[in-house]
Amino acid sequence: MTASPELAERYAAVTAGIADACARAGRSPEELTLIVVTKFHPAQLVRELVELGVRHVGENRHQDAAPKAAELADLPLTWHFVGQLQSNKAKAVARYADVIHSVDRASLVTALAGAERAVDVFLEINLTDDPGRGGVSPDRVEELAEAVLQTERLRLRGVMGVAPLDEDARTAFARLRAIGDRVRTIAPEATDLSAGMSGDYAEAIAEGATHLRIGTAITGKRPAPQ
Ligand SMILES: *Cc1c(COP(=O)(O)O)cnc(C)c1O
Repeated sequence: MTASPELAERYAAVTAGIADACARAGRSPEELTLIVVTKFHPAQLVRELVELGVRHVGENRHQDAAPKAAELADLPLTWHFVGQLQSNKAKAVARYADVIHSVDRASLVTALAGAERAVDVFLEINLTDDPGRGGVSPDRVEELAEAVLQTERLRLRGVMGVAPLDEDARTAFARLRAIGDRVRTIAPEATDLSAGMSGDYAEAIAEGATHLRIGTAITGKRPAPQ
C-alpha cells in the first residue's frame, strides 16, 4: 500500500513543522507522540499513513472507529479515542482504544473501570466559559483525578484540551498546562499533556504538549460524516 504523494507531502510538512516548533521551544521531537486524527476517513487512508511511519491514530466516533479498528487489527497501531464518549459505549470503546483522551466525568470513570482491558486516560478539560462544551470544569479536576486513581484498571496519563476559538491558543494551553500541574500534585505519574491540532500545534509544543492530535493538516479535507 503506497501512500499518495499528496499525503506524503502533507505528512512531511507537518513533521517538519513539529521539528521547527520543537527547536524554537528547546525540545526534542522524540518527546512527542503524533496522533493522526483519521475520523471520517476510510481504513485505506490509515494503511497509507502506516506506510509513512504513523503508529498512533485518533478517532472520535465509536460507530466509525470500531469497524475501522477491527479491519486494521493487523497493523502496528495504537488507537486513541478523542471524542465525546457516552458512558453506555465506554466498555465497547475500551476494547480497541488503548488511550481515551476525553474522560470528563465520574460516571464515565465508573463505566471504564468495568471494562475488560486496562486503559490509559486523559482528563479532558473544558477551556471555554461555556459549561455545555465537552470537558470537566477546571475547578472539578482534582475530584475527577481522584476518581480515576481509585480504580485499578485506569492509568491516568494527564490532561487534554482544545483551545477555544475566541482565545489565543498559547494562552489557553498555558492554562491547560497549569491545570496539569495541579493534577500532578495528587498523581505524580500523570505527566502527559494532550494538546495541539492542525492550526495550533506549534503553540501547544511551546506550552509542553506531549501528545499532538493532528487531522486535516495531514489527512487533507475530511469527507462529510456519514
Ligand atoms: C478532529 C479533532 C482533532 C483534529 O483536528 P484538526 O483540526 O483536523 O487537526 C483533534 N482533536 C479532537 C478532539 C478532534 O475532535
